[in-house]
Amino acid sequence: MNNPETINKQKKSNFKPQISEETPIQYIKGVGPKKALLLERLGIRTLGDALYCLPWRYEDRKNLKKICHLNYGALETVAGEVVDVEIITTPRKGLKILELTLSDGTGVLKGKWFNQPFMKRYFKIGQKLILSGVVKGNPYSGIGFEMENPNFEALEKPTTGVVGGDDRYIHTSRIVPIYRATEGFTTRQIRTLMFDITNNYLNYIEDFLPEEIRNRNNLITLREAILETHFPERFQDMDALNRGVSPAHMRLIFDEFFLFELGLAFEKNGRIVEKGIAFKGTSTLINRFLEKLPFKLTKAQERVFEELKADMIRPIPMNRLIQGDVGCGKTVIALMSMLLAVDSGYQAALMAPTEILAEQHYINIHKMIEDLGCSIALLTGSSRIKPIDDISTGKINIVIGTHALIQEGISFKNLGLAIIDEQHRFGVMQRAGLRKKGFSPDIIVMTATPIPRTLALTLYGDLDISIIDELPAGRMPVRTKVFFQGQKEKIYEIMRQELSRGRQIYIVYPLIEGSEKLDLKCAVDGAEAFKKIFNRFRVGLIHGRLKREEREEIMASFKSGRIDILVSTTVIEVGVDVSNASLMLIVHAERFGLSQLHQLRGRVGRGPYESYCLLMAYPPFGEDARRRLKIMEATSDGFKLAEEDLSIRGPGEFFGTKQSGMPDLRVANILRDIKVLEQARREAFAFVEEKHNLTNYPLLKEALEKSRGFGTDRLDLVKS
Ligand code: ADP
Ligand code: MG
Repeated sequence: MNNPETINKQKKSNFKPQISEETPIQYIKGVGPKKALLLERLGIRTLGDALYCLPWRYEDRKNLKKICHLNYGALETVAGEVVDVEIITTPRKGLKILELTLSDGTGVLKGKWFNQPFMKRYFKIGQKLILSGVVKGNPYSGIGFEMENPNFEALEKPTTGVVGGDDRYIHTSRIVPIYRATEGFTTRQIRTLMFDITNNYLNYIEDFLPEEIRNRNNLITLREAILETHFPERFQDMDALNRGVSPAHMRLIFDEFFLFELGLAFEKNGRIVEKGIAFKGTSTLINRFLEKLPFKLTKAQERVFEELKADMIRPIPMNRLIQGDVGCGKTVIALMSMLLAVDSGYQAALMAPTEILAEQHYINIHKMIEDLGCSIALLTGSSRIKPIDDISTGKINIVIGTHALIQEGISFKNLGLAIIDEQHRFGVMQRAGLRKKGFSPDIIVMTATPIPRTLALTLYGDLDISIIDELPAGRMPVRTKVFFQGQKEKIYEIMRQELSRGRQIYIVYPLIEGSEKLDLKCAVDGAEAFKKIFNRFRVGLIHGRLKREEREEIMASFKSGRIDILVSTTVIEVGVDVSNASLMLIVHAERFGLSQLHQLRGRVGRGPYESYCLLMAYPPFGEDARRRLKIMEATSDGFKLAEEDLSIRGPGEFFGTKQSGMPDLRVANILRDIKVLEQARREAFAFVEEKHNLTNYPLLKEALEKSRGFGTDRLDLVKS
């Protein structure tokens, strides 16, 4: 039966507390219902929340500087007594300056706050105060030490309930944590509370990390990590503390990544033991397709197809991500894998994020495989004829569509391969939805948002990754330039030049129609204006509010050259492929995000012609917009752009909402802590490989189930 060596390796401590991490904060000593309500505003609902509510910075108040020893230009903290507070109005600008004078017996320091006269009520003469800030002033002109908008904290009121009522060692004489305050709860009160909680309740926290993993990665224990992040004793490196990378922080960062990766590892493992389809290794359909293809596959395309094929042949469900910059030729590869599935007797589906893209894929793919004898159908929300029966009887081999594909009522006869295009618009749940339509079909996810490989591993950690890192030969970078309103003539000139060469043009607007609230140019007005300016050319208008037939008609006209200038909204952002188009004008370019601009620009430069992307910007706009436009001019490398985008927007916004599968990180920073992430990932995957399940690790199991950002769909996997 139970082998004593393997069970209870992770015994819970014998002491069975009533109190746990889950205990509502109001029942914690010194809190109560009133304070609990205030704490809730800081996101603190339970004891665990409080323990993990880390300070956002630290101040070294061990050796408070004497005022006479202050250094100009340095960030310093001093304690003293308020000897004067007054509001001074500057004669010329009428600026109100609150000026506070602090003395510690060795000298005086002035604290200044601008146009915040109400702050006067915070200070009283005779009050003991800590001020912290950069020391300004001019030693040569007789102006003494000053701090502008310093951080301040009252020192005098002793707090009760703490080590005999003497709180000197909480707020001074140590490295002091600074917490975010909220109304009714000052940073000082929170500090006192945290001091009490870390002193009295730390024992209720259990270390869930298996000891061998902790040791191997030189991590401190969980209890010490929590204590040290709040009240540093052992780790005093101020810089490391303030950057959030002290050994104490490291332990917590590792934990976050480890739990997240452990979830992914179980998910991947669960799939491997599942039985999948073994497709054929050779396909006459593919050979016939390649014979007709008007170009040769790039080396990268060939390599990636081999990777896909190897997965498809194995009787394990494939789950693979194909990354590749805009225009690298992902569609051909997707199509070839669909042909392989069809040749093996299965159906294949391709799911796109928008109707226009699904329609374009359908038209393109239909043309490419017309005479191969496969049947293909389109299924979107606005499809006139819904080939539902033909899909369920298996008469249709390849289905192209939108979300409509995964709706109730659609069933396949034998879906063997499902492909999701442009993953950044699809979430984990939709992936799961598509999988349920078949019996463990192979899944391919294609994305044009290239992200560093390690990041891809966190986001899609359950997927294998293939990268098409090469563009078809002969592609020239799209020449990109920013223009302003006064330079319209210059833009028209470039447009005329391209039109006279027989090329076509996209013009993209942020809105369909004018809005009363926003003073923005819109597509409808734009189309009218361009019809007048370029009256010898045919101008078309396309946007999401048109009926599907109208849209198809317009796209077909543009593709066949019956429309010269296509005015549109961002509906053409992804996938649209017209190789004769050589110029894109983006109006209000300052309004678009970086990856969106890159996607839009990817619509041109698909043929052999020198191509242009003109970014029309309307000031005033902020610093971020300026950076985006500059980067667009400087590079067309999707990887570089993605990295810049990440650094401008930060991981949270870059990766989008929770449904993108991004973990909700409290301490870790995906960009900064990439090394720890890799370490945690190795450990998590090795753990799953060796131990297979969590039977002997009840604490870890509990932590995994509770961990944030851990989708409920994954919970099944750890129930063992
Ligand atoms: P994306 O990866 O952005 O989805 P597509 O699959 O739409 O790119 O391909 C972009 C264009 O490049 C299409 O017109 C396609 O026919 C063409 N293309 C794809 N592969 C090659 C190749 N190896 N050589 C030349 N053109 C190619
Ligand atoms: Mg594409």
